[in-house]
Amino acid sequence: MKPAAFDYYRPQSLDEALSLLAQYAGDAKPLAGGQSLIPAMNFRLATPAVLVDLNALSELSYINDGPDAVRVGGMTRQRTVERSATIAARTPLVTETMPFIAHPAIRNRGTIGGSLAHADPAAELPAVMLALNAGFTLRSSTGTRTVSSDDFFVGLFTTAVQPVELLTEILIPTTSARSGYAFQEISRRHGDFALVGVAASVTLDEQGLCTAARIGLLSVGDRPMLARHASAVLIGQTPSADTIEAAATAAATDDIDPSSDIHASAKYRRQLAKVLTKRTLTVAFDRVRSRG
Ligand SMILES: Cc1cc2nc3c(=O)[nH]c(=O)nc-3n(C[C@H](O)[C@H](O)[C@H](O)COP(=O)(O)OP(=O)(O)OC[C@H]3O[C@@H](n4cnc5c(N)ncnc54)[C@H](O)[C@@H]3O)c2cc1C
Repeated sequence: MKPAAFDYYRPQSLDEALSLLAQYAGDAKPLAGGQSLIPAMNFRLATPAVLVDLNALSELSYINDGPDAVRVGGMTRQRTVERSATIAARTPLVTETMPFIAHPAIRNRGTIGGSLAHADPAAELPAVMLALNAGFTLRSSTGTRTVSSDDFFVGLFTTAVQPVELLTEILIPTTSARSGYAFQEISRRHGDFALVGVAASVTLDEQGLCTAARIGLLSVGDRPMLARHASAVLIGQTPSADTIEAAATAAATDDIDPSSDIHASAKYRRQLAKVLTKRTLTVAFDRVRSRG
């Protein structure tokens, strides 16, 4: 057997799952799609004593539309999110991004909650949730709390989710008529983890001034990074080519701290971050303007 020995539970309700996590505290790991956890266990990078399999919890698989946000259950498969008409209509940046995540076979099993809780700094969805300012509902056997995307990603493969908690729901704000969005990434082959990726969400007022801009970058640090300096360059401005260039430069120089590895040098990652920030902002602003 490749993984270390573990005990296995398949709870039939959320309450039962949360009780098991409370009972085994730091020794238990939730199993969602298994697309990251099982390989990590097979390599013995993860050696949980107990697996709490969430796959029988149909109550955590849903996409519900609301006035200001779409609520997505943590166990909703990535492929379901990708194909959802509600997501496409209400928060299209998510739909645009989904095909970049791995391959269809992996998205058939992988869940939205698993990707976000895993918090791989090279993963697409964490950067997108930062750009959209999503909220995260965390439940334990003793209560429920909501964490903003700014506070959710705390380090390398580390989030605000405590060992006794589950990420049960993601609140994804809907895209307004005056908002635009875009996602782009560069990877060696389609489906590979990206060398760098950028997700942008912007808003213009009636005069064409930028009132909001959130830019999430992936593969440029130990976690998905929000480009605050780049946003500051854009807010209150008419987004001309020069302004977008200045914002992209700020993103690449002030907002990220990429490292070199076998896939790319830090210098190359900064260059990609600049180019992709420029491209995504240009597309995002054009999308608002094209709606008039
Ligand atoms: C070949 C390959 C290529 C891939 N390429 C990409 C890629 O390009 N981009 C990308 O983003 N991803 C990629 N992935 C990862 C894939 O998207 C995974 O599906 C995802 O990272 C984890 O989701 P999962 O549902 O499989 O979670 P699991 O593997 O089951 O769990 C991952 C971690 O999250 C925890 N967890 C899961 N659900 C919850 C929850 N609801 N609450 C609290 N903790 C939870 C688990 O305990 C575990 O620690 C790839 C995977 C493979 C195998």
